Amino acid sequence: MEIFGIPDCNLSRIDYRIGIEIFSALEVCFQKYPLLKNVINCLGDYPYVLEKRNIVATKVFNQRAVKYDLNSLYKTASFCAAYLNVDDPRNYEKLNTLMYYNRLLFSGICINEKDSYEDLKYMLRQYKSKNTTYCTSIRQCIYHEVGHVLSRMLCIEKNGVTLAKINELMETGDYPRYTMSSVSEFVADCFAKYMVDQNFNEAVNTIGKSIDLFYHYFEKTCKDFYSQDLYKEKILKIER
Ligand SMILES: [Zn+2]
Repeated sequence: MEIFGIPDCNLSRIDYRIGIEIFSALEVCFQKYPLLKNVINCLGDYPYVLEKRNIVATKVFNQRAVKYDLNSLYKTASFCAAYLNVDDPRNYEKLNTLMYYNRLLFSGICINEKDSYEDLKYMLRQYKSKNTTYCTSIRQCIYHEVGHVLSRMLCIEKNGVTLAKINELMETGDYPRYTMSSVSEFVADCFAKYMVDQNFNEAVNTIGKSIDLFYHYFEKTCKDFYSQDLYKEKILKIER
């Protein structure tokens, strides 16, 4: 079902109080980065989004399905982003000629449907008191996942200059444990913090500003690069 401009959206298994916070966080992201409305095409519980990703991979792009271990995902994460990239040159022309290797064919945000609102609030309070991550609210968790999507879409981690700067920041600063777990988590976590406090520290400011800069360039040059119309036309027709 299309909700809020996201063509494939199913929050029927998510606590409605979590849903409200997700939508209000997404609204802020869509206002600041309007092209995300053409990029994030699926939102829902883990099985819903991950199955959809695999259906698109296998039926539309002849890619292999990813075997997700849902039980361990449920234990380790309350939110995650799922993507599908063009990883085979033979697929380049499938949707349109503007594609390049890193184009996201699918990007979804998954929410752990096993978490109640209270569970999540409790967990986030723990993260805050132990300084595990910069994500200490549901809103920031959504910003974090959007940070992953923006990073992929804008090639933040593939660009030599930004990657070198990220590595330098990671080596020199003091950050929460989860924030430091990988380059991708670092970018997503710093972006989540940037959305609530632009000048929190050098890393947050540098990563947020780089994403803004790359986004504006992307908006100018690749306006039609992504399109939900194509998604609706090619992908929503597939039966689950
Ligand atoms: Zn992450």
